Amino acid sequence: MRVAVLRERRGAETRVAATPETAKKLIALGCTVAVETGAGLTSGFPDSHYAEAGAEVAPDAAAALANAGLVLKVRAPLGAREGEVDELALIPRGAILVGTLGASRAVAETYAQLGIEACSMELLPRITRAQSMDVLSSQANLAGYRAVVEAAGAFDRGFPMLMTAAGTIPAANVFVMGAGVAGLQAIATARRLGGRVSATDVRPAAKEEIKSLGATFVGYEDEESKAAQTAGGYAKQLSAEFYAKQAEVVAAHIAKQDIVVCTALVQGRKAPILVNEAMVASMKPGSIIVDLAAEAGGNCAATVPGEMTVTGNGVKILGYRNWPGRISGASSALYARNLLTFLTTFWDKEAKKPVLAEDDDIVKGVQLTRGGAVVHASLPAA
Ligand code: NAD
Repeated sequence: MRVAVLRERRGAETRVAATPETAKKLIALGCTVAVETGAGLTSGFPDSHYAEAGAEVAPDAAAALANAGLVLKVRAPLGAREGEVDELALIPRGAILVGTLGASRAVAETYAQLGIEACSMELLPRITRAQSMDVLSSQANLAGYRAVVEAAGAFDRGFPMLMTAAGTIPAANVFVMGAGVAGLQAIATARRLGGRVSATDVRPAAKEEIKSLGATFVGYEDEESKAAQTAGGYAKQLSAEFYAKQAEVVAAHIAKQDIVVCTALVQGRKAPILVNEAMVASMKPGSIIVDLAAEAGGNCAATVPGEMTVTGNGVKILGYRNWPGRISGASSALYARNLLTFLTTFWDKEAKKPVLAEDDDIVKGVQLTRGGAVVHASLPAA
């Protein structure tokens, strides 16, 4: 089977869906791998490394996709009128497409019409067997690390307490909002840098995890928050009353913080606003807000998604959209391994290709289309 790896064209994406390492493993499984020229360059993988791994370097998307049975992507392929190339039209009928497609029902209908067997990895169920394929976790982990490193770079003081002959610089107060995968890594990274770290979350399990990393828990708890977690491990959407109470507790705390790292998400919804304009105004000049939720609208009311801005009172807000893409070498390496694990889990040695069993929980979670029809149970309308 021929595997195509395309250069990402959507949203200035810097990651790539296969690395020379995973390309080599696919070749060992009996595939031929075609990598579009330049696909790995922004992740530190030049064409020559893919060629050394045994892959063919294709001059463009059309050449990479010709006769492909499997297409590996980070973001959804471009359709007609979406950019320089209509990638969708170049994907052969019957090919399996694997990526973080973020598809609506309408887009899935298009895949079905084109005969593309689409799998969207952000929909992977959070079950133990799927952990090593969990792209959301691998990418969030690195995003949490990167958020703190960028905050440290943008901060005009230090993270650790610095005792010098000229005097002492106090440790930075770091507050992490949302203690899921990204938030826990942000806590650990801020602690390693010597910050004084506190964190909040709504899921009851998060409190112990925050404390186990040596950070202080700050938050509002009531009967509603005791049931704030879905069966899938995500936070539930909570009532306006709960958010108001949470804001009261957080408001006093934020005024004393140097760095606020926002990572709070509610699956399938706009991110909750946790830092309002008044809270931003209460912060000291030179403080930093890093908004990892910017792609989902942002946790801070003053975030401009995609931008770094400075407020009137001198608070710097880092609202970049693609945090994993800011550490693209590592995030591509993990993303590519996630995809490889997914493929090898369903690998048919004789057919030398993945065979996606319809009744498997992982396949049911990620498969959008099969045999020309949309098969996923819950896709958003648009
Ligand atoms: P996420 O990215 O959806 O959200 C990030 C965090 O924001 C979550 O911890 C959430 O509770 C929090 N949040 C939402 N609303 C909030 C609010 N108003 N205030 C404060 N925090 C708020 O979540 P995630 O990081 O992908 O994962 C959530 C949980 O799932 C974690 O406990 C993680 O360990 C678990 N998980 C399990 C598996 C598995 O079992 N295979 C895989 C991945 C993650």
